[in-house]
Amino acid sequence: MVDLGGQYQGIKDQVNSSISNILESSTFINGPEVHAFQKELEEYLDIKHVIPCANGTDALQICMMGLDLKPGDEVITADFTFAATVEVIGLLQLTPVLVDVEPDTFNIDIKAIEKAITPKTRAIVPVHLFGQCANMDAIMDLAHKYDLYVIEDNAQGIGAKYTFNDGTKKMSGTIGHVASTSFFPSKNLGCYGDGGAIFTNDDDLAHTIRGIVNHGMYKRYHHDVVGVNSRLDSIQAAVLRAKLPNLDKYNTKRREAAQKYSKAFEGQEHITIPKTVNGCEGICDTCDCHVFHQYTLKITNGKRDALVQHLNDNGVPCGVYYPIPLHNQKAYLDERYNEADFPVTNELVKEVISLPMHTELDDEQIDYITSMIIDFINK
Ligand SMILES: *Cc1c(COP(=O)(O)O)cnc(C)c1O
Repeated sequence: MVDLGGQYQGIKDQVNSSISNILESSTFINGPEVHAFQKELEEYLDIKHVIPCANGTDALQICMMGLDLKPGDEVITADFTFAATVEVIGLLQLTPVLVDVEPDTFNIDIKAIEKAITPKTRAIVPVHLFGQCANMDAIMDLAHKYDLYVIEDNAQGIGAKYTFNDGTKKMSGTIGHVASTSFFPSKNLGCYGDGGAIFTNDDDLAHTIRGIVNHGMYKRYHHDVVGVNSRLDSIQAAVLRAKLPNLDKYNTKRREAAQKYSKAFEGQEHITIPKTVNGCEGICDTCDCHVFHQYTLKITNGKRDALVQHLNDNGVPCGVYYPIPLHNQKAYLDERYNEADFPVTNELVKEVISLPMHTELDDEQIDYITSMIIDFINK
């Protein structure tokens, strides 16, 4: 699914020399590499504050702690995503409110959000799933209308740009009140272990969060709030510093691979190619609205599971993200949920399949994968 070894070859000298400098200087935690990476990412995103932390799940949790959400507060998020989003809501004893997604973009459904808002709702967590932003114009309008916070889960969307209805653009993760991201190795900007970060333009919130990530300390050994221990280490920061200047190039390579996949599948009756909606239509090759963390097809003739088996048997990696709706996961069952409210997610879990997607895919691999799929689906 990913080829991190191939990507490493392109940054090997820089990564190796930075890591050996860190080993020589023994500045493993909060060293100069972490500070430099923070500044460089702030500049790349055009945002005032980046707060590095230990992973993307912590980042989400810390965003919610920073906003001072309290037990019983309702937080609306998508039913079709990775469990981390709903997990931290549960850990903080907030009330998760899962809602359905859109069939073409897989992103959170705006009408379903508005329907789920109650007087207890405090925040919306849109997930920019598979690398394309949720409908942030509509989400920010709802947040304004109902006085809610917006926490962008940008673990899959780093480097994507969102085009507002008025034509202006912003980087994903810089639109809501606060955002989280993950530097897990297979993410679009991945380190060689765990890592994450929080972004915000709000000076007070940034200050609060800087204390939370460090045991609630704003002055050494003075603990003003209950915090956590969540740090990015210097070695991971050094890897990220080597990759960040290449991120746009990496994302372009992903987009080019996606475009080749989509060309090959065009016109196939039982295969729906991913739709890019923000800033462009159809197959996207000229803009940066989608960074294809995953390239995800819908197989609409009931052969998805058989296709997964066929690809596995023939040594072609693939993944099903995600096979079970969150509202049906044992940990998150809740009698308030009604199956009729999740028609899209319930369908997607049966239809989606994600293909290998990374910066090192070549034409031969893409041809091999696409012809195997087309042959099998039409058999
Ligand atoms: C990867 C991911 C996370 C969690 O990130 P970790 O660094 O693995 O903790 C959260 N949300 C989404 C949507 C993700 O894809």
